[in-house]
This record gives sequence, structure tokens and C-alpha cells, in this order.
Amino acid sequence: MKREPKTLMEAIKYFADPDVAFEAAKDFVYPNGVHCPTCGRTDVRFIATRRMWECKEKHPRKQFSVKVGTIMEDSALGLDIWFAAIWTIANDKNGISSYEFARMTGITQKSAWHVLHRVRLAMKVAGGSGGKLDGTVETDETYIGGKARNMHKAKRKAMDRGDHARRKVGVAGLLKRGSDGALSHVRLNIMGDHALNATGAVLPFIRKNVEPGSEIMGDSLPAYTGLRPDYLLETVNHAAEEYVRGRVHNNGMENFWSLLKRSLGGTYVSVEPFHLARYLDEQAFRFNERKGTDGDRFRKLASSITGLRLTWKELTGYEDAGQAV
Ligand SMILES: [Zn+2]
Repeated sequence: MKREPKTLMEAIKYFADPDVAFEAAKDFVYPNGVHCPTCGRTDVRFIATRRMWECKEKHPRKQFSVKVGTIMEDSALGLDIWFAAIWTIANDKNGISSYEFARMTGITQKSAWHVLHRVRLAMKVAGGSGGKLDGTVETDETYIGGKARNMHKAKRKAMDRGDHARRKVGVAGLLKRGSDGALSHVRLNIMGDHALNATGAVLPFIRKNVEPGSEIMGDSLPAYTGLRPDYLLETVNHAAEEYVRGRVHNNGMENFWSLLKRSLGGTYVSVEPFHLARYLDEQAFRFNERKGTDGDRFRKLASSITGLRLTWKELTGYEDAGQAV
């Protein structure tokens, strides 16, 4: 085995060898040994000349490549392109647009868009649920879209509570505070398109993701009081200019929103609400895995590409959305 890559340049050179790329893909897709994706038989025959396997059972799709049953299924693009996309998305903290990726690899923008979105789907899996958060958990909501990202924060907050918020997408966030050297960890959820949804969407999100008995730190959104008595609720009153009271604050969550909005504003031409969930998964994954090396994040993401298929139609909701991002 050659030395594993540490940088994007090294990764591109490393996976340019089709045998190396194939062996790596095989290990990511079948960490416990190859089996037929249709029936599960493990005594499959390897056809070396085609880098495919053949199942001994009589059923359709007897022959299968390493791409079957993964985000790469039905794609004619080489494994080298896929690994470059996985490496880039796992590690570029500002994200990459389909235009940049197309220029980098020589594939079309439409193909690049499709590849990047499929990799983002794997990111959701790689981020995983990992059980409920506990200890001290900060909560906050924000709105994405419209012209708000260029506005002063106070004005934006005021707008968020008013009619303008209806044109934006509400996102709820939870941040488990790190302790004893552990890193803080975020989890995000799209609430709906306006503030009126907060009560209906935020509380179920918190209940689903936070262990009862945990300490919840938020601002004084009236809906939060519904968390009592199952959770220990501590709030600061942002409306009264109170942001920190001792250890009671949600600054970790607010800092995450700043990072998120800088990335969305700086990299992507536009983010349709329909696609926002995938961008959120991407940002949350990189934030939560920020302590690892580029190689660590690549392997974590590359190990999450199976069991997921996303056709062009499912991805876009309509047939020809190649220019949407
Ligand atoms: Zn089979």
C-alpha cells in the first residue's frame, strides 16, 4: 500500500492510479468483505479485467461494480473524480461551487453539481445522529436568505421577527458545549419558512436531539418555556440587550451562524431553500470533525457513501435544474 495522501494534490495523484482508486473504493464500500448488493452472497467471482464482480445467484444485475449501491451508482465518472469531490467537500471549509469543481476536473458544471450534491448527501450520513446530546446544550434560531446577510445584526434580528422573515428559511441549531478537552458539536434543522413555525418546529427538534435533564441555554424565545420541567432551562434576554450572564449564553451557537453565513454568502451564488439542508449538513460535518486531519475527514466521508442513491430527479425535484446553483 502506498503512503496515504495528506493534501488535495497528493490525493489527486494517488487516486489517478485506477488500481489504487479501485482498492480504496472497495475498502470504503465493503469494509467487511465484498458481497452481492442484490442478494448478499459473499462467494462472488471477481472479474479482474473489468474490476467487477459476478454473483452466482440467478437474479438481475448479477454483475456489479464497486459503484453499485453507493452515491456513485449510474455515474460514468471515474473514481478519481469522485475521490477528488469527497476530499474537497470534506476539507474545504468555505465549500466549493460546481463551477470551481468543473474547472478543476474538466467535467461539465452540470455533472459537477450532481457529484457535489451526492457527496453532500453522504455527509449527512457521515455526520450521523450519534445519539442524543447531553450536558450543556446551547440553542438558537436564525434565518437564511433574502437580503438579511448584508444587514446589521440588530436590524436583521428585528426583521426576523416580522413579516420579512416569511421570505427566508428558518434554521434551528443545537450546540453541545465541549468539556474536558472535548470539542463542541452542532446539530441543525430547517424549521420552515417563517418565525411563526418556531413553536411547532423547535421544541420537537430539541426533544428529539437532547437528553431530558440536560441544561438548555438559549435566548428568551417564549416557546422554550415549554421545555420545562423536562429540561433545565436557562435564558438570556437578547431583546433587553442581555447576551451573557455568567455561563448562561448561546454565543457558541451564534458564532457558528456567523461561520455558516460567511460561507453561504461568499461561496455560493445562491442557495435555494430546497437545497439548503444539504449545505447545512456540509457545514455541520466540517465543524464537528474540525479536530481531525484532512485525511481523517476524507476517510470518514468516503466510508459513508453506501446505501445512498440520489437520482437527478430526486435531487432537483425537477428534471433540468443544472443551473440552480
Ligand atoms: Zn446476488
